[in-house]
Amino acid sequence: MAVKRQLSMVLDLNKCIGCHTCTSACKLQWTNRNGREYMYWNNVETRPGTGYPKNFHEMGGGFDEDGALRLGKEPSAEDYGVPWEYNYEEALMTGTDPWLRPNVKPTWGANWDEDEGEGDYPNSYYFYLPRLCNHCANPACLAACSRNAIYKRQEDGIVLIDQERCRGYRYCVSACPYKKVYFNEEISKSEKCIFCYPRIEKGLPTACAKQCVGRIRWIGYRDDEDGPIHTLVDKYKVALPLYPEMGTQPNVFYVPPLSPPKIDEAGGATAESRVPLDYLESLFGDGVSAALETITAERAKKAEGGESELMDTLIGYRHAEMFKLS
Ligand code: SF4
Ligand code: SF4
Repeated sequence: MAVKRQLSMVLDLNKCIGCHTCTSACKLQWTNRNGREYMYWNNVETRPGTGYPKNFHEMGGGFDEDGALRLGKEPSAEDYGVPWEYNYEEALMTGTDPWLRPNVKPTWGANWDEDEGEGDYPNSYYFYLPRLCNHCANPACLAACSRNAIYKRQEDGIVLIDQERCRGYRYCVSACPYKKVYFNEEISKSEKCIFCYPRIEKGLPTACAKQCVGRIRWIGYRDDEDGPIHTLVDKYKVALPLYPEMGTQPNVFYVPPLSPPKIDEAGGATAESRVPLDYLESLFGDGVSAALETITAERAKKAEGGESELMDTLIGYRHAEMFKLS
């Protein structure tokens, strides 16, 4: 779907510390309406792991190889995790219950498997994967909406849901392979990340990017050849889309994580990566190996005191260079 310009984001997974500040910033900014409590327009998952909602990547959606829309599964309440309350009044105020306890038995929720990862010591590993709506160039949510309520803004490619037109049919929820559209039961409408467009229109970055403690997020226009998105995605090809095979052409890109070496029984480092390449390729496609080789080579150059445009970009010295919004 052609737009005049496309705003994009790059996230460097080598720098994410899993602090969830981005999620808190997003929730604080946008959970301003009942029914949004369970929604994580931005969330941070541990990988390998199940994600949010649980195993969303196995629910289908997106487009097949011939470009035909696939309606996937709509997540159940259990896939998100049923929210619970605590008996604060009884336990803390009146003292009628000696125990603080949830009103339902929690069995699942966002980040239930946080920091679990894979493998056995000393070769266990995990990394963090922050996720938001990809503001796709070919959005499955938009293609699935029979009300034409979902649209892509010409000026920046941000994908939005017209709340006046939405009738809550939820085809968008089924069709989005990233499960980044949520149904608001309170108002019977679908809602999603709006890429903080009211901030963008004022020249400000999204709340998640501005507050990011690890400075892992860059925002800019894909066609800005002097900007960080072009440098990371198009020039050095070190930033890759998540699940590119879903056919939606995401505009959020990830720098895959470098891996420490696998340790052998004698305690020595081997030539093998601890994070398996095939796992990274299952997330980010065929470009992972070349991306990691490029980063490794540029990092060595910088470590030896040489110049590296790529490393200077990835370090992210100043916000002014990380967010190019005009
Ligand atoms: Fe639509 Fe999902 Fe793509 Fe966002 S990530 S634009 S909700 S298909
Ligand atoms: Fe990662 Fe930044 Fe979010 Fe912290 S704020 S979890 S470093 S993306």
